[in-house]
Amino acid sequence: MAPSPGPFRIDVFTLFPEVIDHYVDASILGRARVQGYLDIRTHDVRDAATGPHRSVDDAPFGGGAGMVLAPDPVFASVESVAASEEGMPRPLVLLTPSGRRFDQREAHRLADLEGGFSLLCGRYEGVDQRVADHLVDEELSVGDYVLAGGELAALVVVESVARLVPGVLGNERSADEESFSAGLLEYPQFTRPASFRGWEVPDVLRSGDHGRVEEWRRVQSLVRTLRLRPDLVEARGGLSDQEVRLLVEHDEVQLLRDHGYH
Ligand code: SAM
Repeated sequence: MAPSPGPFRIDVFTLFPEVIDHYVDASILGRARVQGYLDIRTHDVRDAATGPHRSVDDAPFGGGAGMVLAPDPVFASVESVAASEEGMPRPLVLLTPSGRRFDQREAHRLADLEGGFSLLCGRYEGVDQRVADHLVDEELSVGDYVLAGGELAALVVVESVARLVPGVLGNERSADEESFSAGLLEYPQFTRPASFRGWEVPDVLRSGDHGRVEEWRRVQSLVRTLRLRPDLVEARGGLSDQEVRLLVEHDEVQLLRDHGYH
């Protein structure tokens, strides 16, 4: 067996480290941290603030509403961790609504980084632009909406990446089969009871015939994605001839027609 590569490291720079730590400790991430698969470290940016009130924000130049996270504590916090004996994993990613959209592909990219990575959470009206220009390596957004701070966004990134790190889930197959892994949504899942309030689990799932189950799941995954997220099907270059044939065999001709397949 190959030697274990050691824990996957993620450093989070934030004004609210307790938010990150509490969530991590209360979730599957905490178990993975204890078991040595993950090394998630939080750094309180306020610890690097100087001045009598350890203030980290200031009014925007040019006027306008709210305050801006100042560059000095952010640079000082990151630089002190980077200069420490154990250093700091790069890239350093700023969480911001103006970043590139985070998705499952980005999660895989970050999970493949051998040395891990770091996240920087903004607050207030955002972070001084010099942080984006001269300190961070890239910028990511979790969606086209505005949160009050980067902590929830950081947790979205941490959890979705951590689940892809070997050992964290304890079931390596589940991440391969789920939504987005092949550009498709996952098939529907059912558990006991087989009949609930008169709603039955599809017979095929109880047949014990693995080949039929596989095929049913494949069809359901294609049907669901075509219905709910046709943009995903388009992004992967449409359906293959074999997939079209499979859907025809499963009486999904109308759905195919509705999406331009004849
Ligand atoms: N004024 C900023 C703007 O319009 O882009 C929004 C600042 S927001 C109130 C404060 C912080 O929350 C940001 O610096 C960022 O770290 C975080 N944040 C908010 N929405 C986010 C999103 N969609 N993705 C990632 N981070 C987000």
